[in-house]
Amino acid sequence: GGSLDIYAEFVRLIQEKGIPCAVSLEQEPQHDSIGVKKSGCHGFCEMGPLVRIEPQGWLYIKVKQEDCAEILAESILGDRFVDRLAYKKNGRTYPTQEEIPFYKKQTRLVLEHCGHVDATSIKEYLAIGGYTALEKALFRMSPDEIVKVIEESNLRGRGGGGYPAGRKWAQVKRQKAAVKYIVCNGDEGDPGAFMDRSIMEGDPHRMLEGMMIAGIACGATAGYIYVRAEYPLAVSRLETAIAEAREYGLLGTDILGSGREFDIKISKGAGAFVCGEGSALTASIEGKRGMPRVKPPRTVEQGLFAKPTVLNNVETFANVPLIIQNGAEWYRAIGPENSPGTKAFALTGNIENTGLVEVPMGTTLREVIYEIGGGMRAGAGFKAVQIGGPSGGCLTKEHLDLPLDFDSLKKAGAMIGSGGLVVMDEHTCMVEVARFFMNFTQNESCGKCVPCREGTKRMRAILERIVAGQGEPEDIDMLLELADMISSTALCGLGKTAALPVISTVKNFRAEYEAHVLDKR
Ligand code: SF4
Repeated sequence: GGSLDIYAEFVRLIQEKGIPCAVSLEQEPQHDSIGVKKSGCHGFCEMGPLVRIEPQGWLYIKVKQEDCAEILAESILGDRFVDRLAYKKNGRTYPTQEEIPFYKKQTRLVLEHCGHVDATSIKEYLAIGGYTALEKALFRMSPDEIVKVIEESNLRGRGGGGYPAGRKWAQVKRQKAAVKYIVCNGDEGDPGAFMDRSIMEGDPHRMLEGMMIAGIACGATAGYIYVRAEYPLAVSRLETAIAEAREYGLLGTDILGSGREFDIKISKGAGAFVCGEGSALTASIEGKRGMPRVKPPRTVEQGLFAKPTVLNNVETFANVPLIIQNGAEWYRAIGPENSPGTKAFALTGNIENTGLVEVPMGTTLREVIYEIGGGMRAGAGFKAVQIGGPSGGCLTKEHLDLPLDFDSLKKAGAMIGSGGLVVMDEHTCMVEVARFFMNFTQNESCGKCVPCREGTKRMRAILERIVAGQGEPEDIDMLLELADMISSTALCGLGKTAALPVISTVKNFRAEYEAHVLDKR
């Protein structure tokens, strides 16, 4: 059974024993009752289903339905730790979640509540200080001060490009238009990325609060969350959170009696990768075909419905309440000066601990892969990591000590993207990797401009030929030529970055390409 079966089993066992069972905050726990709570993702995917026992903080991994009776008898009623269900590494047992190396090395700010609160209960969010940043922004700060704090924090957009969020807010705030919008990009289309999904599912109020603060700061009265329909749980959690926020007077025409107005709607996307691009995303919300358009005008001037629009992604908005609450200086003290704060990464591939991690910007790849990720699976050697999804690049052994931040990665020919990290071992064929990503991008090309539509097709055909052992030596340079042409002439970011996986794999693993075309294997 999965986590929901385990949850049901705990409730059943507790009730069977005649003990009062509190399943939510609505039912205030009695002195002698036991609370059983569903939470969002803990991030330790490899080890799920997970059960955390409070107040000890014990974490049980790979729990099965048949383990529940033992956990109840030993840990909950008996206050004894069940050794056999604990995480173990190198002969050591780790009873508490915080001690486990996977968590110990992380700094979970944006993900701090994921796995700890019931995402369907606004009461739980309020109980841990939720919406106090909104209150501060409404009653103790002017819109100028809010924008200034976000600017001074140097919060950079977590969706890929790393554009300073405060600068964007200031540009929208300056616009004279009567109607402005706040749009949250929850489209997250990179294969292997699920950071935003976890936030939407595990702590939806945090990002809603960030959007509300943006609305107050920039003078916008309406917000949209663009989320892919393939994330049904995220959609339902957001719907619940928005409904509860309305009920508590946090959304609507008179927020908390301040006379300010802001409301949020959800717009479901059909899963096209190109709809993560700003102008395609706003077109899709407007009910048009999701296709990028030529810029300028920029989104901050003419975005959604041709009105000034702040467009940030889920993780960016989730950072906002923390910054408003703790100040710009506090935020800037985390990570390097030019890329402050933390970044959530989805760690996948041939690695021991796959999952969702959050580290201060500037953490090295080595720390993420070996300390948090537990190293390569089955003792295999590390070969490369694809960072930033299909628009990102491939990093090798020589980049292991590279700090993960916007600027260092750009210099190395990669990009942080939205935060997908696919780790590959020595048995991985890098030409095959390049073909996989080119195939993905080709399928997702919207077809509006020729270099991307046709160029990616040509590149994919060449890669397929090489992988099939039918390539020619000149194919490698042809790939680079096409890559150069597409990136310099394509209209939007999808096309401009489509060739990055090919460029970086040729640069770092040219010998592998040559072996394919020379040996015809
Ligand atoms: Fe569409 Fe590709 Fe052109 Fe972007 S670059 S507009 S995805 S065809």
